[in-house]
Amino acid sequence: MAAPMDSVESPEGEGSAGRRASGVELSVPSDPAAPAPLCPHGPTLLFVKVSQGKEETRKFYACSACRDRKDCNFFQWEDEKLSEARLAAREAHNQRWQPPLSRAQCIERYLSFIQLPLTQRKFCRSCQQLLLPVDWGEHGEHQLLSDISITQLRRPSQLLYPLENKKTHAQYLFAERSCQFLAGLLATLGFRRVLCVGTPRLHEQIRLAAPGEKSNTKSLLLDIDFRYSQFYLEDSFCRYNMFNHHFFDGKAALEVCRTFLQEEEGEGVIMVTDPPFGGLVEPLAITFKKLIAMWKEGQSQDDSQKELPIFWIFPYFFESRICHFFPSFHMLDYQVDYDNHTLYKHGKTGRKQSPVRIFTNIPPNKIILPTEEGYRFCSLCQRYVSLENQHCMHCNSCTSKDGRKWSHCFLCKKCVKPSWIHCSTCNRCTLPDHSCAGPRDGCFICGALDHKRSNCPNIGTFKRANKAVRRQKQRKSNKIKTKPLKDNP
Ligand code: SAH
Ligand code: ZN
Ligand code: ZN
Ligand code: ZN
Ligand code: ZN
Repeated sequence: MAAPMDSVESPEGEGSAGRRASGVELSVPSDPAAPAPLCPHGPTLLFVKVSQGKEETRKFYACSACRDRKDCNFFQWEDEKLSEARLAAREAHNQRWQPPLSRAQCIERYLSFIQLPLTQRKFCRSCQQLLLPVDWGEHGEHQLLSDISITQLRRPSQLLYPLENKKTHAQYLFAERSCQFLAGLLATLGFRRVLCVGTPRLHEQIRLAAPGEKSNTKSLLLDIDFRYSQFYLEDSFCRYNMFNHHFFDGKAALEVCRTFLQEEEGEGVIMVTDPPFGGLVEPLAITFKKLIAMWKEGQSQDDSQKELPIFWIFPYFFESRICHFFPSFHMLDYQVDYDNHTLYKHGKTGRKQSPVRIFTNIPPNKIILPTEEGYRFCSLCQRYVSLENQHCMHCNSCTSKDGRKWSHCFLCKKCVKPSWIHCSTCNRCTLPDHSCAGPRDGCFICGALDHKRSNCPNIGTFKRANKAVRRQKQRKSNKIKTKPLKDNP
């Protein structure tokens, strides 16, 4: 999932799927031919602020990747005209924000590094960088790791620290158990190539084979985290932004991806992605459709009905949002666990259960979930479900989404969470301590009734847009403050 997970704690129900009240949405340019301006993360996206169901008239461009102004403060009104001087300054800024080493330099350094004797292979923890002997001087005072083995080089996700507190990366690494389950499942399903989009730990798991053996599954990692470019050659890593389908190393990198997808006429390949969900679902869906199109180009005509197999790993309360863009997707009951998050470890350890699931277009009856981890096969649904997920005869399906036993409400004509009761005033099932009177206590940002502002999946984008808009308005009235604005809407 990869997001500030504290923002997803126990939302009671299914995310921001339906109603449109207040927030920020992706918008279409007034002039479709107008290219989006660039920030250091590639083409920006056009957004529109929505308040109480109404779009504000003025649209604006903002960074596609960063949900925090501290990481990228790009802002431009759609109709704003910039002077030559400001365009040049922006160009220079974009250059300055590129990684210190080019892709080619990284590869050259990697090849030199693996030639070094073990005793000379050092890694600087402070700079998150593999060092060559010529670099040692500069890093003298830093925290260094020595004797970096080939095994360590093959597991960079354990050498690098996860960029978890950065809203931009929101790096949440799979727990060993989930990672092995996923890699095993891909092998069982017979995939020979895996396009890993934002899944560095799965990428390395796939490439690891028994010592001395070569893994017979190929993997290509697309990720925005520059640090990974130190550990992989051109054919196994591209620095990529999944919110705007931008390859940071241009055409050559795009061709690596295309070749990978189209190999063997597109047979045997799957895309697996675990995006930060602080971002919006729509730009991700647009990107994935572009990757699907790239794969399709390599298909012969008679395969036109076939779909690119996909695993999209995301919290269960985005189900309706994801299925809106990809109607052939199903949500599996499997709970994906993470290493560096204390709350969402496996339910059986007495901790909170993970809300993260796998969405896929592979028929669920082909996917075997481990019985030893608490899953069983439902012969009526023809799929594996959580042990506690009981088949409801009225709904004719195993209805629980969160792994707990849900109960059927005859008034609502559907199954609901165990903590809910039917309220005759509201005429629906809801939490017992809700207030029927007054304004509906939905989410302030997206209007959904099942979570609060603090749990809203769109909170990051909303805050950023708000700040940007306010700052812009302030600039106009010539009262630029030095302190950051409060982000209360
Ligand atoms: N569970 C996965 C990691 C998911 S964390 C695993 O263990 O392999 C999300 C990943 O997406 C991180 O690796 C992060 O660097 C990457 N990421 C974040 N924003 C991105 C963007 N805009 N484009 C591409 N990758 C991004
Ligand atoms: Zn940016
Ligand atoms: Zn250093
Ligand atoms: Zn039911
Ligand atoms: Zn009810």
